[in-house]
Amino acid sequence: MEQTLIIKSGKCAWGKCIFCGWGKKEYPKKTFEELKEFTEKHVKDGIKRLKIYVSGSVLDENQIPFEYIKWLYKFASERNIKELVLETLPQFLSEEKAKELENLSKQYNITTYLAIGLEAADDELLKKLNKPFRLKDFEEFVNRAKKHNLKLRVYLLVNIPANYDYLEKSVDYLKDKADEIVLINLYPHKDSAMIYLWLQCFRNRLYDYIKDNRELLSKFASYYEANMGY
Ligand code: SF4
Repeated sequence: MEQTLIIKSGKCAWGKCIFCGWGKKEYPKKTFEELKEFTEKHVKDGIKRLKIYVSGSVLDENQIPFEYIKWLYKFASERNIKELVLETLPQFLSEEKAKELENLSKQYNITTYLAIGLEAADDELLKKLNKPFRLKDFEEFVNRAKKHNLKLRVYLLVNIPANYDYLEKSVDYLKDKADEIVLINLYPHKDSAMIYLWLQCFRNRLYDYIKDNRELLSKFASYYEANMGY
């Protein structure tokens, strides 16, 4: 059985990926004591895999004190949790952090997975999505993680607007790099830049659909004027 804990603490160091609303929000930064209390309160009995996701990166010490990560391994081992999944941007996996995670994994006999949203194995699309890294950075991250026996869980976005088959190419690219590949349908979050593009497209298509129907048009026109800029 697995469980995901979503911890709202601080703000993503980047916050500019165009589909993501998490990165736009700044939450009060949780202290070590608050993080411990939150974890003890919410993690259920009998969990074998615990996934820790935050409003940014678990390994960003501006969001999550590393003291908590160290405590988390001890907590997981006492609960007989076998796998920890920690989501992070590649820039926060320094050589030193990777070594510390390797030592903690050994000490507590826990397999560590680093989760990362690669989205697409394509520099052009990474640029369009405004991701804070490119494939070269991702590959450095992969090599560092592997060197320290850390496994990788990599997320890809399905349905990124592109006129070529980036998804098949991305899955192929990850076959010798990721231990797990997760496909997620692209749906822009509230507060993200992409939701406004999506709404604009939806508005135009809806308008095309109702523009010849005066009755429908009169019902919706005032709403659009007030809310969507007509
Ligand atoms: S996708 Fe990740 S890196 Fe990008 S803004 Fe959101 S939380 Fe930050």
